[in-house]
Amino acid sequence: MRVDVETAAGERYPVLVRAGALSEVRDHLAEVAPDAACVVVTDENVDALHGARIRAALLPLRVDVVAPGEAHKTLATVERLLDGFVAEGLDRSGLVVSFGGGVVSDLAGFAAAIHLRGVRHAVIPTTLLAQVDASIGGKTGVDTPRGKNLVGAFWPPCLVLTDPELLATLPRAEWINGLAEALKSAIIADDALFERLEAADVDALRSDASAAAHVVERCAHIKATICSEDERDGGVRQRLNLGHTLGHAFEAAAGFEGLRHGEAVAIGMVAEARIAERLGLAEPGLADRIAAACRRLGLPVTARDVDAAHVRSFLRADKKRAGAAIRFALPCAIGRVELVDIDDPAIIDAAVVDAISGTA
Ligand code: ADP
Ligand code: ZN
Repeated sequence: MRVDVETAAGERYPVLVRAGALSEVRDHLAEVAPDAACVVVTDENVDALHGARIRAALLPLRVDVVAPGEAHKTLATVERLLDGFVAEGLDRSGLVVSFGGGVVSDLAGFAAAIHLRGVRHAVIPTTLLAQVDASIGGKTGVDTPRGKNLVGAFWPPCLVLTDPELLATLPRAEWINGLAEALKSAIIADDALFERLEAADVDALRSDASAAAHVVERCAHIKATICSEDERDGGVRQRLNLGHTLGHAFEAAAGFEGLRHGEAVAIGMVAEARIAERLGLAEPGLADRIAAACRRLGLPVTARDVDAAHVRSFLRADKKRAGAAIRFALPCAIGRVELVDIDDPAIIDAAVVDAISGTA
């Protein structure tokens, strides 16, 4: 599958999804960045499993291997990457290739955005989460001690090359994490995909390469289409925040070791569906249906060990940034979300309490 994403600047980049695409990486890069010298950025796990293939395929100037995990998505790591780019003489015509999950492409994409005021970035996502979501859309950045993704840049890649075969080595917990974002995309835009996912289970998907490839293709298509309509979160793209407005607050309140991103998004989606039901925007039963699908895929739907006051204070901080009300992407039906500004704290509080007490 190929889908082009149109950027705010009117440029286009292709998102290619195909089993075995990694072995064709050289040809695809030759099309979007002919003769560009490149630096590959990856993490230790991906390097150990797949590093030999990318080295052989691309003959990069260097391979920068970062420590795995969100804890290393920091300015300090970006600084080390930049130092390597300069040491290697990566010039304005050069290319940074991310080979890893969302953490790697966030880091390397941000380093590409600021090295010499910007060099090209190509992404080869290796986690389900990155293949269905993070690799597309051009958001890059790092965490700071005050919060996730507080520093960064919109830096659209020149190519996203997605090979679902890379998921064969992905640990089960990472599959589950990515499936939350896949469910999100399905709820936003594809009821047939939702039906497929609600009938699936993690182990079946992991062992069925063509089913997994189908999920990746559909989600990549949805994300690419939405980002093309609205690269910079103006309106349409905010639909992708489904599950994230409350999810981020749960994630932050749990401490970044407490809940995985996908887990927080699952809890957020269910809680936001409850809000939609209470406001009469969704048919009763939608939240239960989403919760059942999450559970089946190994995702939690309640946040038992999280302090409600803590969640509220993160939401208040969000609200301060956004103005009077908090904007939610609320699911109204499977395949349809609506953007709704909510300024009544009682409505949000009730959803937070439900999600924590387990009535969700
Ligand atoms: P995300 O994509 O969810 O943002 P990360 O980039 O942190 O997350 O990747 C999650 C974990 O999965 C990391 O420990 C990373 O090293 C590992 N990983 C990434 N891709 C693969 C793969 N194809 N096989 C095995 N492990 C992988
Ligand atoms: Zn997300």
